[in-house]
This record gives sequence, C-alpha cells and structure tokens, in this order.
Amino acid sequence: MNRIMDAAITTATVDIRILRVSGNKMTLAVFRQLPQIDPWDMNFRVQPGRELWGTVNYCPKDCEGPIGLWHSDYGRTAHHQHVVWACSGEISRVAFPTNRSLVLKDLQRKESSGFLGGPEAAKAIGEWHLLKNRISELPQLFIAV
Ligand SMILES: [Zn+2]
Repeated sequence: MNRIMDAAITTATVDIRILRVSGNKMTLAVFRQLPQIDPWDMNFRVQPGRELWGTVNYCPKDCEGPIGLWHSDYGRTAHHQHVVWACSGEISRVAFPTNRSLVLKDLQRKESSGFLGGPEAAKAIGEWHLLKNRISELPQLFIAV
C-alpha cells in the first residue's frame, strides 16, 4: 500500500447557488409545497418555455418520488433526484428517476396496460437518457434549513 507523504490543506473559494423566493432563501417547507410534476406526464421532455434550474439534494420524508415508480414494490429506496424547474415565473419540482432498470420496469408496466406502444416506449427511454444527461450537468441548488 502506498502512503501519502505529501498532503496539504489549501483554502479555496466556491460559489453556491441559493434558491430564493421574493428575495428570501427558500425553506424546506416551501420546497415541499412546490407542485410536483410527473416525469412520465412530460414524456421526459422539457417543453419550450420551461427551464431547468438545478437539483436539490433533499428528499422530503413524505416524498412520493417519481410518480409511477413509487409503488410498494420499489419503496422509498427507488433512486431519484429532485429537480427544480421554472415556467412563466412559476417553479415546480420533479422527482426524476435515475435508475434505468426501474424506468424500464415502469415502462413495461405502462406497455402491458396499453399506455405506451413499442415505438413510443423506445422514444421515452431515449428522452429519459437525454434528460438524465442534462440533469447531471445542472448546478446543485441550496435551500435554507
Ligand atoms: Zn424524494
């Protein structure tokens, strides 16, 4: 095993992005009250006029996660990420599923119930990938405790 012989601590300045509402830091309580959008309803696409702002590393205790993926067979452990986005001055949050296998399972469920057909399903997975990549590049937003 190699030993680290040349370590040091340095000082750095970092910028953090704070989510504000009317000039005040957004609180956890306000965040919980944001309307939640089902990523399936938007077909994993960001419609014109909507803007992705960033991710929030906070999952409320009563989080329902990605709607559709949040069945008892997945439980609270389903992987997802909270994303804040804006449309015409109104902000919403999306619990975006980050686990491909869970998205595929939900897709199969939708196909078997006739909700989605083959080409639409393949398109949905493609859109999910694109949006996942966009979300991974978003800044993390901080909210007040
Ligand atoms: Zn959550």
